[in-house]
Amino acid sequence: MKIAEKIDDMRKLRRRLTEPVGFVPTMGYLHEGHLSLVRKARTENPSAVVSIFVNPMQFGPQEDFVSYPRNTQHDLALLDKAGTDLVFIPQADEVYPQPFSARVEIGKVTERLEGTARPGHFRGVTTVCAKLFNIIQPQRAYFGQKDAQQAIVIKKMVTDLNMNIEIVTLPTVREPDGLALSSRNTYLNPHERQAAVVLYQALSLAQQLYANGEKNAERLRQEIIGLIQQQPLANVDYVSIANAETLDELDTVKPPALVSLAVKIGRTRLIDNIVI
Ligand code: AMP
Repeated sequence: MKIAEKIDDMRKLRRRLTEPVGFVPTMGYLHEGHLSLVRKARTENPSAVVSIFVNPMQFGPQEDFVSYPRNTQHDLALLDKAGTDLVFIPQADEVYPQPFSARVEIGKVTERLEGTARPGHFRGVTTVCAKLFNIIQPQRAYFGQKDAQQAIVIKKMVTDLNMNIEIVTLPTVREPDGLALSSRNTYLNPHERQAAVVLYQALSLAQQLYANGEKNAERLRQEIIGLIQQQPLANVDYVSIANAETLDELDTVKPPALVSLAVKIGRTRLIDNIVI
């Protein structure tokens, strides 16, 4: 496994890879969710590239950029084992040399849900992904359904800007009790970790009520909120039932519908979703 820290080195090593190249962008502190993407990239392409970059542009001023968990040595061991060919670990000052002024704006699908809760977040995500796509020039890029809106936004960027990359979305990897794997789960103390299962329980309740005939989206949202409010450590940020492509909120649930939520468990903000 080769490692590049400079953009120039990355480009040189990239030229030697057999195409097609599959690419997995990450912020590191890797877990099985990330590794499922790497393994898929590995099986679908002769070459797999992974980036590790905690992207300052996608964090708000009050968010956890500084405290975001990092463990590069452990990440590299996991990536090597998963069969990664090339890892890109750039420094922020080379990704964003000052004065840096480019911004990639994708519009409507970035303006709701996480975009409302985290102003500027998706501008940071799309700007860094556009840069990483230009540097790495993959034929395919792999994203997790865990960040459903992010995958939708990236697909829209690739379509609208004619980027010649296939975006592949893969299922959310979960703990045995249903909690979606996330680098941020490390912030949870044991009580909060137990409480955090309420996100998946609430999504499962919605799925079950829908299967039993409940098609009214507002009643489903209220059932989800009601269940989460029974958990004293949990605070609902938003609950959404939206068209899975446009992210328009629904009155009547019609598949494919994205049921997504953001919930604070103590001070940790977690997101999760299912598609009905
Ligand atoms: P991050 O390091 O949080 O930026 O995530 C990098 C990629 O891994 C993104 O495409 C995420 O959607 C994906 N990912 C994160 N957690 C999971 C999970 N539990 N299951 C599947 N993919 C995930």
